Amino acid sequence: MSLKFTAGDLTIHRIIEQETTFLPAHDMLPGLTPELLAENRAWMKQAKALDDTDTLILCFQSYIVKTPHHTILIDSCIGNDKPRPGRPKWDKKTDETYMRALAAAGFSVGDIDFVMCTHLHVDHVGWNTRLENGHWVPTFPKARYVFGDAEYVYWSEQNAKAEVPPFADSVLPVVEAKKAELVTNDYAIGDHVRLLPTPGHTPGHVAITFGRGSKEDAVFAGDLMHTPLQTLYPELSPRFDVDGALAAKTRRSFLERYCDTDTICCTAHFPSPSSGKIRRKGNGFTCEMI
Ligand SMILES: [Zn+2]
Repeated sequence: MSLKFTAGDLTIHRIIEQETTFLPAHDMLPGLTPELLAENRAWMKQAKALDDTDTLILCFQSYIVKTPHHTILIDSCIGNDKPRPGRPKWDKKTDETYMRALAAAGFSVGDIDFVMCTHLHVDHVGWNTRLENGHWVPTFPKARYVFGDAEYVYWSEQNAKAEVPPFADSVLPVVEAKKAELVTNDYAIGDHVRLLPTPGHTPGHVAITFGRGSKEDAVFAGDLMHTPLQTLYPELSPRFDVDGALAAKTRRSFLERYCDTDTICCTAHFPSPSSGKIRRKGNGFTCEMI
């Protein structure tokens, strides 16, 4: 399994926290008919994206990108000690998998210059903070944490109505520690890192693109898609997309943008190796894994 690869002058590492069964395919994708699943079951199982009970298998991971200037962590995964009663595999877990994977890739928490979140869902912010003497403190002591302004405002409003635990324990403590930068979509880091607005899954969701100048050597897709089935059928939106119709439109235009280019598309949740190049297939696309 490839945990490290290069693209242009970038070195990219995958930091895997879990790769496991998630939700039944029909439950997660309400538009998936029994006939469509039957047609696609064989290749989905072969890709290890589906198990024998038609449950989707997802990878939960961060990426670390080394540019010539910075070390940037994208999406901080699930985290430890976080109360997540709705998800037994995540609830107050205390395993060392993530920190061990970070060390195995050759990094310590002090090496990260920037943490960037594609959006502020529970499995993308978890390691933003860790528990220290009963308080949530930033895990990466030297990092600036980059959150999209629109995404931050949306979750602030939700959290004001009823507490959103991942926002309260994994985002707000970073803001309170004055480590956060709330940025608009024209934000860039040097000549290498830019944001691509990809709304739908959440209102302020962004993909993050890397490459010198206008080149796009790699793009980090976050949750604009969760399973390879959605590359072939971009109209399939998971039930937890905030705006499913917009997410479907965003998904197709994203896939069209990168189709038949050399850009490596690094997905958050596709099964290992999770990253590949987008190619056309029928009326949809495939991600040809690297
Ligand atoms: Zn996710």
